[in-house]
Amino acid sequence: MTTDVLARQTLVLNRHWQPIHVTSVVRALTMLWNEAAQVVEPDEYRLYGWHEWSELTPPLDAPCIRTAHRRLRVPEVVCLTHYDRVPSKAVAFSRRNVAKRDHHTCQYCGVQPGWDRITIDHIIPRSRGGTSSWLNCVAACPECNAIKADRTPEQAGMHLRRRPTRPDWKPFHAIHDGAIASWSRFVNDAPSLALA
Ligand SMILES: [Zn+2]
Repeated sequence: MTTDVLARQTLVLNRHWQPIHVTSVVRALTMLWNEAAQVVEPDEYRLYGWHEWSELTPPLDAPCIRTAHRRLRVPEVVCLTHYDRVPSKAVAFSRRNVAKRDHHTCQYCGVQPGWDRITIDHIIPRSRGGTSSWLNCVAACPECNAIKADRTPEQAGMHLRRRPTRPDWKPFHAIHDGAIASWSRFVNDAPSLALA
C-alpha cells in the first residue's frame, strides 16, 4: 500500500501558482522538508509547511504514508517557496512522447502493440538524411518497422494514417494518465507543462 502511495505524483506550482511540472511524492515531501515548497491544500487553497502538514490528522480515505506513530497525508499539489521558474512551452521530443502523441498506435497498420513493444519509425530513414524530429518520426509496431526497413513509405508501398505534427497538447491531460482530480483547479488554461 505504501509503495502505491509513493508511486503517486505531485503537481508543482511556482511562486505565482503556475503549474510547472509533476514530480514524485517522495521528491515533493523532500522539498517540503527542506522548506523549498509548501503543500497547497486543494480544497481551501491553504498553504502548509512541513511542521503543520505533518501534524494534521488526515481524513480516513486520504492517501497516506504510515509511520510508526502517525499517518502522513500525501501532498497532491505543492508550491515552490523561492524558485520562479516559468512554465515550459515546448513538449520535449522523445521516443516516449512520440508514442504518446500517436496514442501508442502504429501509424502504418493501426495496431496497438503495447507500451513496451512500440517502436519509433523515421519516415525518411536516418541513412537518407531523415532527422529525429516530430515531423519525421511516428510510432510503429515492430512488424511494420521491420517491413519498411531502410526505405521511405513510398518505396515500401506503405501509407501513413495521418501526417505527424508537433504536439500542442496540454501534457497535463495527455501525459499523466494518473492525474489527480484536484490538479484541474490549478492547470486550467495553463501553458504546457514540462515533462520533467
Ligand atoms: Zn504496424
